[in-house]
Amino acid sequence: MARDAASRPGDGNAFTRFFDRVDSALEPIFGAPPSVSDVDQTDAAELRTRPCPVCGHAIFEHAFDDLSGNIVMTCPTTERLPERATTGPLNELGMPAHGRRLVRYEQRASAG
Ligand SMILES: [Zn+2]
Repeated sequence: MARDAASRPGDGNAFTRFFDRVDSALEPIFGAPPSVSDVDQTDAAELRTRPCPVCGHAIFEHAFDDLSGNIVMTCPTTERLPERATTGPLNELGMPAHGRRLVRYEQRASAG
Protein backbone atom coordinates (compact mmCIF):
# COMPACT_ATOMS: atom_id res chain seq x y z
CA MET A 1 0.00 0.00 0.00
CA ALA A 2 1.42 3.33 -1.04
CA ARG A 3 1.57 6.21 1.37
CA ASP A 4 -0.65 9.12 0.44
CA ALA A 5 1.63 11.71 1.99
CA ALA A 6 5.26 11.78 3.04
CA SER A 7 4.55 14.07 5.92
CA ARG A 8 3.09 14.12 9.32
CA PRO A 9 0.07 16.36 9.32
CA GLY A 10 0.84 19.98 10.04
CA ASP A 11 4.64 20.08 9.95
CA GLY A 12 5.54 19.61 6.30
CA ASN A 13 7.33 16.56 4.98
CA ALA A 14 10.86 15.25 5.44
CA PHE A 15 12.01 17.17 2.38
CA THR A 16 10.80 20.55 3.63
CA ARG A 17 12.00 19.85 7.18
CA PHE A 18 15.48 19.07 5.81
CA PHE A 19 15.65 22.42 4.02
CA ASP A 20 14.21 24.22 7.03
CA ARG A 21 17.09 22.80 9.07
CA VAL A 22 19.62 23.76 6.38
CA ASP A 23 18.19 27.28 6.25
CA SER A 24 18.34 27.71 10.01
CA ALA A 25 21.93 26.40 10.07
CA LEU A 26 23.12 28.67 7.25
CA GLU A 27 21.23 31.81 8.17
CA PRO A 28 23.88 33.08 10.60
CA ILE A 29 26.46 32.71 7.84
CA PHE A 30 24.51 33.82 4.77
CA GLY A 31 21.92 35.98 6.46
CA ALA A 32 21.19 39.57 5.66
CA PRO A 33 24.32 41.58 4.85
CA PRO A 34 25.59 43.68 7.72
CA SER A 35 24.64 47.29 7.78
CA VAL A 36 27.33 49.52 6.29
CA SER A 37 25.86 52.75 7.61
CA ASP A 38 28.13 52.74 10.67
CA VAL A 39 31.27 52.13 8.59
CA ASP A 40 33.06 55.43 8.21
CA GLN A 41 33.13 56.61 4.64
CA THR A 42 36.56 57.49 3.34
CA ASP A 43 36.78 60.84 1.60
CA ALA A 44 37.11 60.40 -2.18
CA ALA A 45 39.51 63.35 -2.44
CA GLU A 46 41.70 61.75 0.22
CA LEU A 47 41.68 58.46 -1.71
CA ARG A 48 42.90 60.21 -4.87
CA THR A 49 45.91 61.65 -3.02
CA ARG A 50 47.03 58.29 -1.57
CA PRO A 51 50.24 56.87 -3.00
CA CYS A 52 50.06 54.02 -5.49
CA PRO A 53 51.36 50.76 -3.99
CA VAL A 54 53.15 49.96 -7.27
CA CYS A 55 54.87 53.21 -8.29
CA GLY A 56 54.42 55.53 -5.30
CA HIS A 57 52.82 58.36 -7.29
CA ALA A 58 49.48 59.78 -6.18
CA ILE A 59 46.43 57.94 -7.49
CA PHE A 60 45.07 61.02 -9.29
CA GLU A 61 48.12 60.98 -11.59
CA HIS A 62 47.09 57.57 -12.96
CA ALA A 63 44.97 56.79 -16.03
CA PHE A 64 41.97 54.50 -15.69
CA ASP A 65 40.55 52.51 -18.61
CA ASP A 66 37.18 50.79 -18.27
CA LEU A 67 37.61 47.87 -20.65
CA SER A 68 34.64 45.50 -20.77
CA GLY A 69 33.85 46.02 -17.11
CA ASN A 70 37.41 45.58 -15.91
CA ILE A 71 38.98 48.80 -14.71
CA VAL A 72 42.67 48.95 -15.60
CA MET A 73 44.87 51.49 -13.84
CA THR A 74 47.98 52.65 -15.70
CA CYS A 75 50.85 54.15 -13.74
CA PRO A 76 52.25 57.48 -15.01
CA THR A 77 55.83 56.20 -14.80
CA THR A 78 57.72 52.99 -15.49
CA GLU A 79 59.58 53.30 -12.19
CA ARG A 80 58.46 50.82 -9.57
CA LEU A 81 58.80 50.79 -5.83
CA PRO A 82 61.24 48.16 -4.59
CA GLU A 83 59.59 44.99 -3.37
CA ARG A 84 59.63 44.53 0.35
CA ALA A 85 61.99 41.84 1.55
CA THR A 86 60.11 38.95 3.11
CA THR A 87 62.11 37.11 5.70
CA GLY A 88 59.20 35.89 7.80
CA PRO A 89 56.74 33.06 7.18
CA LEU A 90 54.44 33.11 4.15
CA ASN A 91 50.78 32.25 3.94
CA GLU A 92 49.19 29.73 1.56
CA LEU A 93 49.28 32.30 -1.26
CA GLY A 94 52.96 33.12 -0.86
CA MET A 95 52.22 36.47 0.77
CA PRO A 96 53.72 37.46 4.14
CA ALA A 97 51.76 35.76 6.88
CA HIS A 98 49.84 37.89 9.36
CA GLY A 99 47.18 37.53 12.02
CA ARG A 100 46.44 34.11 13.48
CA ARG A 101 48.74 32.31 11.03
CA LEU A 102 51.71 34.44 12.10
CA VAL A 103 50.86 33.83 15.78
CA ARG A 104 50.82 30.06 15.14
CA TYR A 105 54.20 30.22 13.36
CA GLU A 106 55.68 32.09 16.31
CA GLN A 107 54.19 29.60 18.78
CA ARG A 108 55.64 26.66 16.83
CA ALA A 109 59.04 28.35 16.56
CA SER A 110 59.17 29.01 20.31
CA ALA A 111 57.92 25.51 21.16
CA GLY A 112 60.39 23.59 19.08
ZN1 LIG B 1 51.14 53.65 -9.90
